Amino acid sequence: MKNKSIIEEAEDIQRAAEMVRLGARMQMLEAETRLSRERLLKIYKEIRGMSPPKGMLPFSTDWFMTWQPNVHASLFMNFFNFFQQHTGLKGLDAILKAYHLYLDHIEAEVIEPALSLTRAWTLVRFFDADLLHMASCTTCGGHFVAHAYDPTHEFVCGLCNMPSRAGKTKRATEAARATGTKRAVTAKRGKAKALATAD
Ligand SMILES: [Zn+2]
Repeated sequence: MKNKSIIEEAEDIQRAAEMVRLGARMQMLEAETRLSRERLLKIYKEIRGMSPPKGMLPFSTDWFMTWQPNVHASLFMNFFNFFQQHTGLKGLDAILKAYHLYLDHIEAEVIEPALSLTRAWTLVRFFDADLLHMASCTTCGGHFVAHAYDPTHEFVCGLCNMPSRAGKTKRATEAARATGTKRAVTAKRGKAKALATAD
């Protein structure tokens, strides 16, 4: 783009690099920076040592409703909402901070992250488009990702009503149990603050 200042461009490059390191797809990079596709491809290749995957982004809310993705997505959304409500962070900044916190949490529990950064970003867009919202579990009180127009007065989350094939490992179940509870966010508050003020 013409007339863009050097400083703005440098900021975009830095953001793009951070997103690529966190696993972002091209679509996200193009939407969230003002850099050209050529420039983004260069950044991508320089950091990952390969070309970005081709193809469309998943375009359905259904993935977030399946058991394990729902637990992970809910954990991320609780962090994201926390940042939006308690810090000045908005949009992409809140997404990146929440995603770092999600990864920290997942790593601490030694489980595989099910939610990629691009999925997390798509998730926030689904919320913005009012396709999804948070529903409170009537059993544990945690907040979980749900379809916007599903009735919620009797909502029971996937952890309180676990399908028989889900939660193969005890550890995964324990990790997941922290999801949506205020406890999880409060415990991370010190860390969240540090992250929020890191730049
Ligand atoms: Zn529950």
